Amino acid sequence: MTTDAAISVPAWLERLAQLAVRQGVHLSTLQQKDGRDLELVFATATLFFPADRLLDERGANAVLKHFLSTAGAMLDTDHVELRRWLVDTGFVRRSDFGSDYRRGALPAWLEQAAPALDPLQLAETVQQARDARDAQREAKRQAWLARQIEVTEQPAQAIDADETFMRLALDQAHNAWALAEVPVGAVVVKDGEVIATGFNQPIGNSDPTAHAEIQAMRAAAELLGNYRLSHCTVYVTLEPCAMCAGAMQHARIRRLVFGASDPKTGACGSIVDLFAEPKLNHHTTVRGGVLGEESGQLLSKFFSERRELKRAGSLPADEDDDAAR
Ligand SMILES: [Zn+2]
Repeated sequence: MTTDAAISVPAWLERLAQLAVRQGVHLSTLQQKDGRDLELVFATATLFFPADRLLDERGANAVLKHFLSTAGAMLDTDHVELRRWLVDTGFVRRSDFGSDYRRGALPAWLEQAAPALDPLQLAETVQQARDARDAQREAKRQAWLARQIEVTEQPAQAIDADETFMRLALDQAHNAWALAEVPVGAVVVKDGEVIATGFNQPIGNSDPTAHAEIQAMRAAAELLGNYRLSHCTVYVTLEPCAMCAGAMQHARIRRLVFGASDPKTGACGSIVDLFAEPKLNHHTTVRGGVLGEESGQLLSKFFSERRELKRAGSLPADEDDDAAR
């Protein structure tokens, strides 16, 4: 628990709105740094519980589902996981028999503002922030489409749309970091919509193939019920390795957009260029360097933090220290 100064009602709503424009946010991502974001979101969830009475498990589930479809819409979790976290952290109290749920105590910095907030207002704040984000995205898309009509050739103007999707891939990279995995994220886009997301998770999944772009393509293929992703674009924050480039070719990915170059294992120009090999690739066009600096900085920050932890003895040293993934 933090001992910071109390948050005001407007500051609470403002931070919630900032979080609301993201999507697919893991609870562990919110727990990063000082954990204030997690506390704020959990406190928001508890305000959906009635102040004055107990709920049985069904009632608690209904409350949490309602929260996740409104004020908690940015979260990537379900009511069961969320309930477990809320109980574990004391934001929701469960009776000794495990059958009744009620609001728990809030951290001191949230206690004062909480009584002035209600579910309707919290849900509206999130909805407005997400609507504004969608409107902004749609305006960008329309502007991009308008330019497409003007310029019928392959557009350098796709920059805006590519950056928008790369930001979502960066969000996924943060999910990886929160789980202590090398921060690389990816999204798969079809017809201007994100249909799947993924982040690097080989350690947690005990799976050497669990690179961000594989995770995202796997989810996309499952969603579409098709192992060919012919009309899809993959956005990934780091230049794909040979395995991922190969998987993209098998999936017939139409377009690949990546962020930072990977001088160690990059297979799109850095070490080899598998997409430039006409015997291998007939399908995928490639664009690199979109938000490359930001994507690269995220990785450098991660590795420098990790070196710091190793120096301090909080992490075991391992021989594969600099491997990107
Ligand atoms: Zn890879």
